[in-house]
Amino acid sequence: MSTSLLYHCFGIRGYRYVSQQHRQGGVAITIDQDRRSWRCSACGSRDVRPKGRRPREFHGVPIGTRPVTIRFAVPRIKCLKCGKIRQVKIAFAAPKQRYTNAFRDYVLSLSQCMTILDLSLHLDVSWATIKEILKEDLNRRVGKPKLGKLRRIAIDEIAVRKGHHYLTLVLDLESQRVVFVGDGKGADALKPFWKRLRRSRAKIEAVAMDMSWAYILAATENLPQATIVCDRFHVVKLLNDKLSDLRRELYRTTKDGLEKDVLKGIRWLLLKRPENLNEDRNEHQRLEEALKVNKPLALAYYLKEQLGEFWEQDDSEQAEAFLLDWIAMAEASGIAVLKSFAKTLRQHALRLLAWYDYPISTGPLEGTNNKIKTLKRQAYGYRDDEFFRLKILALHETRYALLG
Ligand SMILES: [Zn+2]
Repeated sequence: MSTSLLYHCFGIRGYRYVSQQHRQGGVAITIDQDRRSWRCSACGSRDVRPKGRRPREFHGVPIGTRPVTIRFAVPRIKCLKCGKIRQVKIAFAAPKQRYTNAFRDYVLSLSQCMTILDLSLHLDVSWATIKEILKEDLNRRVGKPKLGKLRRIAIDEIAVRKGHHYLTLVLDLESQRVVFVGDGKGADALKPFWKRLRRSRAKIEAVAMDMSWAYILAATENLPQATIVCDRFHVVKLLNDKLSDLRRELYRTTKDGLEKDVLKGIRWLLLKRPENLNEDRNEHQRLEEALKVNKPLALAYYLKEQLGEFWEQDDSEQAEAFLLDWIAMAEASGIAVLKSFAKTLRQHALRLLAWYDYPISTGPLEGTNNKIKTLKRQAYGYRDDEFFRLKILALHETRYALLG
């Protein structure tokens, strides 16, 4: 071992190699530092007087499978400039860290193909240490996304941890990056985002979101210039929910045993797009028979299929005429769930039509949501909310999406 090896292999420069010990399958390397290069860790002054030593150990880059410990009796000094007693500045490790910078970089490069658990076993350090290294790196790289260039965004909430805990996400629709992760849902969850957005002076043109008033009011208040687009994804989802409610209600009220069976059997078929119905399983025929015996359900189903055409009109004028027709038909249907849905559409007509100016949706957030589910499945330690938040902000780096 030599001082030169210390530098080239362990990233420790400006220190002297003293000795090495072999213990418990690992290697401990003792180093020292010339008095002439001592510096105050606070002000950098050389004008320092020795005040004893404090022995410390650092995880170093391993040699093959052998863990390496760097031992350094860190000089304590009195800085004549600050007038305080402290340890000297350490060049090869971050303040208060128990690993060298080279070790940290080694962990970061391996983390692209190894999980935290793999790394902790391979390097013989705690799970928490590896996680802290990754967390600090994430925080530095993605912790505070720049918002200044945001133009089109999507806002939506996702359920984490079995539906009780929510996060509100903001996605940059141009770069497909998550730029904000808010705790909870509703207007409060977005407050820190508006604050950061104001500071960034971003000029948001359009925001895609669902038809909930909480987000609409918050966006109207904080982005008075932006166009709000209530997106297709949520409209279709809401109508599907209404259709399910209707089927359930019909099932409950019908006395006819045969009709009950038919209604039960088509539960999922109602929500499928017609082109996705499976011919081998006779799904088309089964659905048609069910609709034949049940007028309200048939009407609701055809209206649902028709609504999709709202987003396929030539322009916003045609779309408006289409929407008003559709609303009139739904209101005339006499079916309560459709009437309430029609009322919702009427309230949001302008925001639905806004799609013709800004064809955006929260759809891309669904992809993000799926990646987050993968994260959760692999996550043995996302009880650390801040770490989980950082992992979400880093989702655009696919590798991080795939690994814990
Ligand atoms: Zn000082």
